[in-house]
Amino acid sequence: MSYQIGMARVSTKTVDEQILGAARAILNANYVIALTGAGMSVESGIPPFRGPGGLWTKHGEPPMNGYQLFLNDPKKGWEERIRRQDDELWRPLKAAQPNPGHRALAEMEALGVLRFLITQNVDDLHRQAGHQGIAEIHGNWKLIRCIECNARFPAESISLAVLPPTCPECDGLLKGDTVAFGEPIPRDVLGECMDQSARADLVIVAGTSATVYPAAGFAIEVKQRGGVLVEANLYESEISALCDFSLRGPTGEVLPRLTATVAELRKTTLS
Ligand code: ZN
Repeated sequence: MSYQIGMARVSTKTVDEQILGAARAILNANYVIALTGAGMSVESGIPPFRGPGGLWTKHGEPPMNGYQLFLNDPKKGWEERIRRQDDELWRPLKAAQPNPGHRALAEMEALGVLRFLITQNVDDLHRQAGHQGIAEIHGNWKLIRCIECNARFPAESISLAVLPPTCPECDGLLKGDTVAFGEPIPRDVLGECMDQSARADLVIVAGTSATVYPAAGFAIEVKQRGGVLVEANLYESEISALCDFSLRGPTGEVLPRLTATVAELRKTTLS
């Protein structure tokens, strides 16, 4: 099997070598984190926002000042959210299941090898795969967040009898946890991402071209400090040139092979 990348064909032998090299680097690293993005969601049937077939390509981008509009009229924002529960944006999120790539990263965490995961995805699939140490930089669609105290609540636990709902803990204004355009990344999440990336000496970048800031900055910063970047992505992207290892293929294929190789090598070194 081989994958078409631009003009070049990369044989799986090359992918095997890249996986072996990446697995060795992962086991040699002191602190491994992962950064994941939309490519992993797409493999679970969630359409991307941008690009061909993207939701925003079809329906137009949401307003760039979405957060300000919400703050101006939170009641209207909530009414809109309730009205859209069954539209094209939400349906695939409700139907999606974690794929082998999500499970492979959760397994690598369970092995004690992967220490933390930063995701740009809002789909909850890393959590559903059993991942524990996780920061959702753009929020989680299943959660409601207080914009005052940052407490999160499962959406179903919040009564919508009176709109907008208020925080059970501090009475602050509640909003969907997903980060709107113009909304700052919640400070607690951003702080955790900065702490974790400051500790990291290897980043697995999976299913993202890592061009969206601030997420991209975490990987690039680790590289600039002399760390190692491992990329798992279907296509070559802006970050490929910086990567020490490029596992070219669907994340649902290359990540399980990477985790299996890490587990195998670890067994040999431990025994
Ligand atoms: Zn609160």
